[in-house]
Amino acid sequence: MRYSFTSSIQDSAVQTPLVLAQDVRVHYGHREIISGLDMKVSPGEFIALVGANGAGKTTLLRTLMGLISPSSGTVSILGRSPIAAREKIGYVPQKHYFEWSFPITVKDAVLTGRTRAIGWFRRPSTDDWVSVFRAIERSGITHLQDRVVGELSGGQRQRVLLARALASDPSLLLLDEPFTGVDAPTQDSLNELYTSLAEEGLGIVMSTHDMLSALTHCSRICGVRGNLALDAPAHQLSVEELHRWLREA
Ligand code: ATP
Repeated sequence: MRYSFTSSIQDSAVQTPLVLAQDVRVHYGHREIISGLDMKVSPGEFIALVGANGAGKTTLLRTLMGLISPSSGTVSILGRSPIAAREKIGYVPQKHYFEWSFPITVKDAVLTGRTRAIGWFRRPSTDDWVSVFRAIERSGITHLQDRVVGELSGGQRQRVLLARALASDPSLLLLDEPFTGVDAPTQDSLNELYTSLAEEGLGIVMSTHDMLSALTHCSRICGVRGNLALDAPAHQLSVEELHRWLREA
């Protein structure tokens, strides 16, 4: 029997979730930031991670990514450790984590998203460049591919970071506050892009402070307060309820 790419991702996900976090605890020194968190993400979900400043959203994303090791509990990505599954994870960090003054073109910046696939000692192959140009096209920045990254606007930079994350052909996309410094129309078009990527089978977890756009575009809202103190389908919540939940923190 033949399967399409998307249906084979979804079929395998019946047995193996994209993300499975169980009783995860994360400490910075003696301070517990994440306390006994359980989380499951399936392909096609577009999840908004909300919570007060300092609640632990970035910490959770970095833990799912394997950049932070939990003090206890387990995280698996497609049934493997985050480190082993790293190529399957696309991470869009907050914009200030990227060195925009570096004199590098968009296509070379996007190629850095394939460093793990290429390794440090091999030249990029034709297949690597095919993935790079596909990610650039998917992110809507083909017309910018030869521009230097430092010349770009906030919204354009956000698309470069997205293309860089897509360049490794991930199954899971982690977005850390992707709307900082982005105007409202650009935010809407980025949200539409994330939605269509989720419809194609990608699982997306996005930390955000914009409750209205989270409710409008995301399928599920997860609220971080030590653990996932809130976890509900977006259509069951209102902006007022979300703001009330945040104030209770
Ligand atoms: P924001 O919405 O403001 O971005 P957040 O929910 O993403 O916040 P985190 O950045 O995960 O929160 O930080 C959670 C807590 O951990 C904060 O109190 C922060 O000061 C602290 N923290 C973050 N990184 C470190 C670190 N490397 N060492 C020690 N403490 C840290």
